[in-house]
Amino acid sequence: MFDRLGRREDETPFVVQWFVQQGIEVWSTREGEQRFDTHVDKLLNYIRFWQASGESEKTAIRVRTKHSQMVQEGQFRGGLVAYGYRLEHLGRMNKKNQPVKDLVIDDDEAAVVKEIYRLITVEGYGTNKVAGHLNEHGIKTKRGTTLWRGTSIRAIIANPIYKGVLHFGDERSEAFEHLRIVDDATFDRCLEIVKGRAPEKKEKPVRAIAQGSRNLLTGLIFCGHCGNRLSYAHNTTHRTLADGTEKVYDRNLYRCYRKISSPQSCDGPSGHEIQPVNDAVENAVREFLARIKAIPKERLLAIANTREASVAEVAFRQAVKDFEEAQRQVNALEAEAVKALTGESQLDLSVVNNMLLKHRAKMDTASETMEESKARMEAEEQARKSNEIRVDEILSWAERYDDADYEARHLIISALVERIEVRKDNQVDIFFRMTAEQFLSPVAVSA
Ligand SMILES: [Zn+2]
Repeated sequence: MFDRLGRREDETPFVVQWFVQQGIEVWSTREGEQRFDTHVDKLLNYIRFWQASGESEKTAIRVRTKHSQMVQEGQFRGGLVAYGYRLEHLGRMNKKNQPVKDLVIDDDEAAVVKEIYRLITVEGYGTNKVAGHLNEHGIKTKRGTTLWRGTSIRAIIANPIYKGVLHFGDERSEAFEHLRIVDDATFDRCLEIVKGRAPEKKEKPVRAIAQGSRNLLTGLIFCGHCGNRLSYAHNTTHRTLADGTEKVYDRNLYRCYRKISSPQSCDGPSGHEIQPVNDAVENAVREFLARIKAIPKERLLAIANTREASVAEVAFRQAVKDFEEAQRQVNALEAEAVKALTGESQLDLSVVNNMLLKHRAKMDTASETMEESKARMEAEEQARKSNEIRVDEILSWAERYDDADYEARHLIISALVERIEVRKDNQVDIFFRMTAEQFLSPVAVSA
């Protein structure tokens, strides 16, 4: 890993030391034990993660930022088109000057949407009855079938698009009137009616929390004993107490299915309570973000921009000088050639021509170098900009983490954390990114 950062041997250890002093590293939440010594390479990778340029960025967070911007601007961000709308090219072009489609109301489907709201808010229909009603009348769904279900009706009336509001996760745009099908009051009332009537199997508020929290660490969590990926499991146990009453125990667990399927292959427990594990990870991530937040933005940017941006600039200035020099020579030789033709020159025309050829070639080379170094300068400027975006992004995570929903927190954790290992007694080891080679490779290529 050091080899790869070796272009700046003088600075690398300094940067690492400084990071370590700031406490940005891999750590164990167990007894708050700091284990950065063995994970210095991961730190370096993390720095590289900031330095890596443009194309290879594949973090979901970036996509999310882009999407949320599109949502705020009222643009269709891809995926399924909601019932009641279709895509149409209204003349908007993208940056590559290709036509882009926009969301517009589909009059036929919009009439059906209005009817759905009317049936629920005025006629007092339940969602299943609405679905049956549409099926009976041969109204087709978006997929061209006549298979409306209660769930599809519930999904429709919960979508804020019908009051003109685009959404992405928890984020909402302002209302775009040209996309509105129902008024705010109808929308809200309809949602309340359906929610009030929705069949609740168990009226446990814990449920809703568990639904989100079960996905918080998806794909990141492993058994610290056997290395197997842990799965979320919900476990309900019924027990009859001595006095004859039945008690229900609800448990949310991370399960090691290897332990369950072949107990001798894993010496850990078969399950871990989900909440303490999630809490430990979230605390570590909060601490991580808080430490980043404590670093001035200029310092973060300076670290992200340690690439030798000035080299291209020097090369460019030199090439300009070479070009101008060659140009001067060519001009002088051309004047000399005229003189040679009229016999005013001491030099023979063929000699002058030879020198002209040489200096014109020099001019061409210098011009090529100019172009190249200019392109490099622009690429570096681009890299600086994307570093700035990335730093802003990380800072914004630090700012918004606590208010973010589970989906957003999951994305942030996935961007920062590579792997979480859980062992008995809720011991949690959190390995922060990056081993991500894709972040390193473009740097290696440009080096
Ligand atoms: Zn295991």
